[in-house]
Amino acid sequence: MTMTDELLQRYRATLPSFLSPYYADPIAIDHGSGSYVWDLDGNRYLDFFGGVLTTMIGHDHPAVTAAVQEQAAKVMHTSTLYLSEPMIEFAEAVAEASGIPDARVYFTPSGSEANDAALLLASSYRKSNQFLAIRNSYHGRVFSAQAITSHSSWRSTSHSGLQVSFVHGPYKLRSPFRDLDDDAFADACVDDLVQVLDMTSAGDVAAMIAEPIQGVGGFATPPDNLFGRMGKELSNRGILFIADEVQTGWGRTGDHFWGYQAHDIVPDMLTFAKGVGNGITLAGVVARADIMDSINVLQFSTFGGNPLSAAAGLATLRTVQNEGLQDNAKAMGERFAAAMTPVADATPWIAEMRGRGLMWAFECCEPGGIEPDKQRTGEFHEACKRHGLLVGKGGLYGNVVRLAPMLNVTADELDEGIEALRAAIADVS
Ligand code: PMP
Repeated sequence: MTMTDELLQRYRATLPSFLSPYYADPIAIDHGSGSYVWDLDGNRYLDFFGGVLTTMIGHDHPAVTAAVQEQAAKVMHTSTLYLSEPMIEFAEAVAEASGIPDARVYFTPSGSEANDAALLLASSYRKSNQFLAIRNSYHGRVFSAQAITSHSSWRSTSHSGLQVSFVHGPYKLRSPFRDLDDDAFADACVDDLVQVLDMTSAGDVAAMIAEPIQGVGGFATPPDNLFGRMGKELSNRGILFIADEVQTGWGRTGDHFWGYQAHDIVPDMLTFAKGVGNGITLAGVVARADIMDSINVLQFSTFGGNPLSAAAGLATLRTVQNEGLQDNAKAMGERFAAAMTPVADATPWIAEMRGRGLMWAFECCEPGGIEPDKQRTGEFHEACKRHGLLVGKGGLYGNVVRLAPMLNVTADELDEGIEALRAAIADVS
């Protein structure tokens, strides 16, 4: 029995059955560097999923490793009961970058808890437990985040106690508006929102939460300014807008630092997680001070603002800012689109290729239609691995292959990934 087989047996014997590793022959990752990881058998893979959009500036990045090592040697944990320089410096940097006026930052260990905190804040500010979310959304695994997650297969319960209505948003392909052009589609989404608001008694709704590009939902990408237009309808009625930037923040979309900035809107709150610590647990919510101050009982999160995480966050943020990685995401995204759009167009079972910056997805369907083809999606995913490329899956019906290269991916690495993708598509066509 190989070491990988043995680890798999122990994984299955100890972790819950609702978790399962990718691939018929799962990979045991031993180490990583830059855009690459190596398994226990010494095989090298080009990593275009980064631990689910998390090792954003590459595995083993020297700036992050040095910051974490230095901080670990000083003190690993303090909590918000004590002052800590990395935590405060990172909070200042995030508040400044957020674009939210008079911003306050509340740290949590995960994106789910960041969204839970945002919902709690909206609920206490607006004295309501009614929320709007977007069809095809994913916001996390805690009770409240499951309630605002659209699809039953991504939820283990519907009993959160929150009242949630789902409105149309970025996912056009499987909406009744799929044949409309982008402008007419945006009109239809705004009309849908207004109707739902009229039906739900708008004055009672606390907030609407949206991912600027839907992550787990398969990188469904909205027309520019969709959320600006929806946001106007919300703010006219005093309803808050929360941007879930867990996948779209930190320059990932290329054009902007935050996904919301493709829209003419400043959110009342935004949540961040995943790539912000480049692999070290770090998340939180940024809110306007008047909203943050609407909670006046202690909301203590033990690991929130942990100095090790904050040091990793600062090193990651400074690297993105100082090395122009948002611009790289834009340039590499354009290079990817130029190479892959003709391939996707010529492949009858790729119903749609979509994305922006360094988040790209292929929705796999019956040839010529939109009937989801989960089987071929799985084969495509496996074929990428055979060609040395790690990618993700997602989508409402598990029929989307997702790619999110590191923000500092080089043109050579990107081209290597494109070659592997081309070969994988040819294999399963
Ligand atoms: N929001 C979005 C948009 C996400 O993609 C995720 C995780 N996939 C979450 C929230 C939850 O984050 P976490 O897994 O860190 O709890």
